[in-house]
Amino acid sequence: MEELCRTAPEVYRAIIDEAEREHSNLELIASENFVSPAVLQAMGSVMTNKYAEGYPGRRYYGGCKCVDVVEELAIERAKELFKAEHANVQPLSGVPANLAVYDAFLEPGDTFFGLSLSHGGHLSHGYKVSFTGKVWNSIQYTVDPETEQINYNELLKLAKEKKPKLIMAGASAYPRTLYWDKFKEICDEVGAYLVADIAHIAGLIVAGEHPSPIPYADAVTTTTHKTLRGPRSAIILCKEKWAKQIDRAVFPGLQGGPHMHIIAAKAVAFKEALSDDFKKYQHQVILNAKAFEEEFKKLGWRLVAGGTDTHLLLIDVKSKGITGKQAEEALDKANITVNKNTIPYDKEKPFIASGIRIGTPALTTRGMKEEEMKKIARLIDKVLTKIDDDRIVQEVKGEVKELTEEFPLYSSIRGK
Ligand code: PLP
Repeated sequence: MEELCRTAPEVYRAIIDEAEREHSNLELIASENFVSPAVLQAMGSVMTNKYAEGYPGRRYYGGCKCVDVVEELAIERAKELFKAEHANVQPLSGVPANLAVYDAFLEPGDTFFGLSLSHGGHLSHGYKVSFTGKVWNSIQYTVDPETEQINYNELLKLAKEKKPKLIMAGASAYPRTLYWDKFKEICDEVGAYLVADIAHIAGLIVAGEHPSPIPYADAVTTTTHKTLRGPRSAIILCKEKWAKQIDRAVFPGLQGGPHMHIIAAKAVAFKEALSDDFKKYQHQVILNAKAFEEEFKKLGWRLVAGGTDTHLLLIDVKSKGITGKQAEEALDKANITVNKNTIPYDKEKPFIASGIRIGTPALTTRGMKEEEMKKIARLIDKVLTKIDDDRIVQEVKGEVKELTEEFPLYSSIRGK
């Protein structure tokens, strides 16, 4: 990165520092991952220069021969990966993808259902301060107070009463399996569209580690940067009969020029995701989450919904007298990165929260396995049970350093 260093040394320094931070911390944020050097190279390519409004073969600009190649590759690979009839690879990120789908199926003011934010849903599933909660009449469903999982019978009752035109199924902090067939039955009962947002679990789905919504949903949205391990972006998959409607909603409905360098990186990431190694990786993501579950339970921590079937766990830290915010800050000092998260029926505000969310995708990419997860669970327990003890924080920081050195990351960027 000599040119970058010469032109903007302060930006260069921040990038090198970020690579160093990613290497020297234990990254447990469930929505994060580490892309391959090939994905990074495609993102940092000359395709950022090109305007390409429209779709391959039907552009509003000349000179689109090369960008058409990568967009067609990304489309074909996305369809093959997810076994989908149609793919739109232009959404700029997860929220714009969801906006496009709502716009394709709903009129302003129409009623739709989304899982409540504090019960594991996402802002873009109709949260009141989100644009999605202002333009459309969103009704937020919740999880069962006992099981902390979706109660499909209760959801059916609510749907019969409120008659939504669309049900959004999917989550940001839901550790258990989502049953798309049950969502579909409910949608059929009330004549609603089914949309699945698989942002968190897309990688698990393509590897067969979680059921796929493709046979059931009218449309599926996903970010490409979480378990899928691609660039920061999103795609929409749908049945052929909705293809025109979805494509029109993305462009010209919501966006202008697609980000062709990111679409190129998606084509690279989808190729990687089609490999056997990717399947093995996703299986390890699940094994690692299960190892966390076992160890945290052994150490006496209460897990929301009783554990996990996916890449993430929600730990109720309030059950041991601390808040999510305190836990996040204490772990941060020991170079362990997690995020505070509300838990179902939380009495704390989202900025304080009663839980922390931890996920295994990033550490699994570094090559860590069950043994390391158990060790990390014990380190987390050590910090959280003596939250004000700086001596313990320093001790744990040392152990984190040993682990991160054993599983190095981005050595060529860091020059080490
Ligand atoms: N949908 C779900 C389920 C998510 O978890 C997220 C991000 O965390 C998004 C959508 C939004 O994605 P983005 O941040 O790329 O807009």
